[in-house]
Amino acid sequence: MDHTAEFDYLVLGGGTAGAVVAARLAEDPETSVCLVEAGPSDEGDWRILELWNWVNLLGTELDYDYLIEPQERGNGLIRHSRGKMLGGCSSHNSAIAFRTPDVDLRIWERAGATGWGPEDAHPYFERLFDRVNIETVFPGNTCSEAFVAAARQAGFPPIRFNEEELREGVGWLQLNARGAIRQSSSVAYLHPIGELPPNLTLLTDTKVDRILIDDHGDAVGAETDRGTIRARREVVVCCGAFDTPKLLMLSGIGPADHLYDVGVPVVADVPGVGEHLLDHPEGVVMWEATRPVPTMSRQGWEAALFARTDPSAGEPDVMFHFGTSAFDLNTVQLGYPTAEQAFCLTPNVMRARSEGVVRLRSGDPATPPLIDFRYFTDPEGYDDRVITEGVKLARAIAAQPALRPWVKRELAPGPNVRTDEEISEYARRTANTVYHPAGTCRMGAADDPGAVVDPQLRVRGVGRLRVADASVFPTMIGTNPCITCMMIGEKCADLVKEAALPTPLAERNLVI
Ligand SMILES: Cc1cc2nc3c(=O)[nH]c(=O)nc-3n(C[C@H](O)[C@H](O)[C@H](O)COP(=O)(O)OP(=O)(O)OC[C@H]3O[C@@H](n4cnc5c(N)ncnc54)[C@H](O)[C@@H]3O)c2cc1C
Repeated sequence: MDHTAEFDYLVLGGGTAGAVVAARLAEDPETSVCLVEAGPSDEGDWRILELWNWVNLLGTELDYDYLIEPQERGNGLIRHSRGKMLGGCSSHNSAIAFRTPDVDLRIWERAGATGWGPEDAHPYFERLFDRVNIETVFPGNTCSEAFVAAARQAGFPPIRFNEEELREGVGWLQLNARGAIRQSSSVAYLHPIGELPPNLTLLTDTKVDRILIDDHGDAVGAETDRGTIRARREVVVCCGAFDTPKLLMLSGIGPADHLYDVGVPVVADVPGVGEHLLDHPEGVVMWEATRPVPTMSRQGWEAALFARTDPSAGEPDVMFHFGTSAFDLNTVQLGYPTAEQAFCLTPNVMRARSEGVVRLRSGDPATPPLIDFRYFTDPEGYDDRVITEGVKLARAIAAQPALRPWVKRELAPGPNVRTDEEISEYARRTANTVYHPAGTCRMGAADDPGAVVDPQLRVRGVGRLRVADASVFPTMIGTNPCITCMMIGEKCADLVKEAALPTPLAERNLVI
């Protein structure tokens, strides 16, 4: 790379949102855009592109595979996967595709994210679905069909996801895929890479270590492991819910006392950076099957159920995915049995209330971030109650006439776990993540001191710097978040284009 490389816009992180931001900005042939991605390209790499292989990417060199801090009430053994390649997690995930529920976008607006309500977001979904192909799972796996029938027998109506507003019900999932091939943001927005417009420069295998900030408090570039890149107009950070706050803090943007502790000079005291770490904690109930479970499935998770564990709640509060294999990562290591032929239901706390933190372990960019989810620590015990009730509901569905003939035995938690206390203990200790970390650079009103970005995604206290990825979620949404991250990328590109910041007139000095 040319040491003095300079572009109008620098997009840091070529993942789910970053690929969208860069591709959309480069639609204006008068601007130059550079997209910097730490991982390799996904183009032609069938390990990544073939959707069925997603589970085999866990823990490989294409996965950051982050460890988390020991958890007082949850599962500290969880490995947090994050895709390290073009397309980021959209190149790694199981491609379950949900538009953001309207109810969540209204919550976002009430939380200060003006301009992010359902009416504002809908055109962006339309725009992204022009690029990202969405398909409904074709019913045909007899085990999944038995689950859908059992949920109906338990009283849940059918629902067509994404075609009607989310409510209680059971249905076949939609996937961002074309047949067996995933429709990640890189596939949909960047391929074929050889035909990218000349004003879009793509740097893969290039890790950003710091954002460069000048003496006017503006972001003007980035320091990478392959040299310095300058941005004439704006820098957009899209490194995801762990690495975006890490990069901001390495660049001196974050809670001043913490930066002081790890020896990073403070550029902007932004207390919210790394706070408010959210996720969907996920329980699992797993059964050994009486017969071979059909392997016919694109990614192993074909149907979902949304339910209310609290009948007085207006909205569903628990989301189940139905899996046609033994999802035993977190149960086996605690001694629960597994089986070759198995299926499972996974109760997810849709709007979990526990909040964790991301911090620096040191000022060395090579050191992984410190990640502490503080799962199941919300003071009202909401998350614990929802997951406990979710396990009970999963059992009730397996007991329905349609699914009962498939059940040989309950593998986990098993018949001896009966009381609420026992179920809670099991569910919390074996909980997995659905890999949905979010909220660590929360968007909020311009005068909200805890917010990191304003509704234009501009970082508090630093000019010409925006964030666009899952870290800006004001609150956790009720569904799988990948499409929401792409929507954020679409809107961010518009916000940057509308601002059309001029290049600074005079040469500035760097402070970092
Ligand atoms: C295994 C798995 C399964 C999932 N399943 C689903 C699902 O089925 N449906 C769904 O909706 N969601 C799913 N998710 C979650 C969803 O994919 C993510 O929430 C979403 O894709 C996150 O997008 P993002 O833009 O915030 O970050 P990412 O997509 O993670 O993008 C961040 C990018 O930044 C790059 N980067 C990070 N640090 C640096 C640096 N210092 N320098 C340069 N580049 C850097 C990364 O390599 C990455 O490419 C899953 C996630 C995983 C991991």
